Amino acid sequence: MRLSHIKLAGFKSFVDPTHIALPGQLVGVVGPNGCGKSNVIDALRWVLGESKASALRGESMQDVIFNGSLNRRPVARASVELVFDNSLGKAAGQWTSYAEISIKRVLKRDGDSSYFINNQHVRRKDVTDIFLGTGLGAHAYAIIEQGMISRIIEAKPEELRVFLEEAAGVSRYRDRRRETENR
Ligand code: ATP
Ligand code: MG
Repeated sequence: MRLSHIKLAGFKSFVDPTHIALPGQLVGVVGPNGCGKSNVIDALRWVLGESKASALRGESMQDVIFNGSLNRRPVARASVELVFDNSLGKAAGQWTSYAEISIKRVLKRDGDSSYFINNQHVRRKDVTDIFLGTGLGAHAYAIIEQGMISRIIEAKPEELRVFLEEAAGVSRYRDRRRETENR
């Protein structure tokens, strides 16, 4: 699956609806300090199910909602949608046959958080499931940020195993086995 579009509204500094197209295999995000480059990466992690505010450089999860500026009022909700090209049919389960897969997360100030896959209301787990074994989860290795290379190099064997299982595509099965065992 290839990420082809990111649509944001009310997320961090992206208060107005913003559509970022990601054509081709390699995309660079450049701009002056504080213009919102890292916010785009935060948006990716957030949609993929990140539940730790600190991993998104905030104190509480509501910190991802645009909280106002000199001349703009804060807004009531943040939403981010990722559109994936699935023409190779790599998405798991019921989504295999869709040419495009849209994953959306919406958060309101009262804490109400919802996830959607192709506009169907789903659980957070449905979103994390779709990416298991693809390397693109909130904690997987497809998003490599500052300090991550050294974390991998210095990882303990059991931490390293998580990356290897994801790369080998077995994490999906490990998760399912754990679920069955816990039933
Ligand atoms: P650098 O080059 O320094 O890494 P950057 O382009 O990565 O900068 P970001 O960290 O993505 O910049 O963006 C920081 C900006 O986002 C700051 O101006 C900050 O005020 C703004 N910002 C973050 N969260 C919110 C929010 N909830 N509401 C409004 N603005 C926000
Ligand atoms: Mg940055």
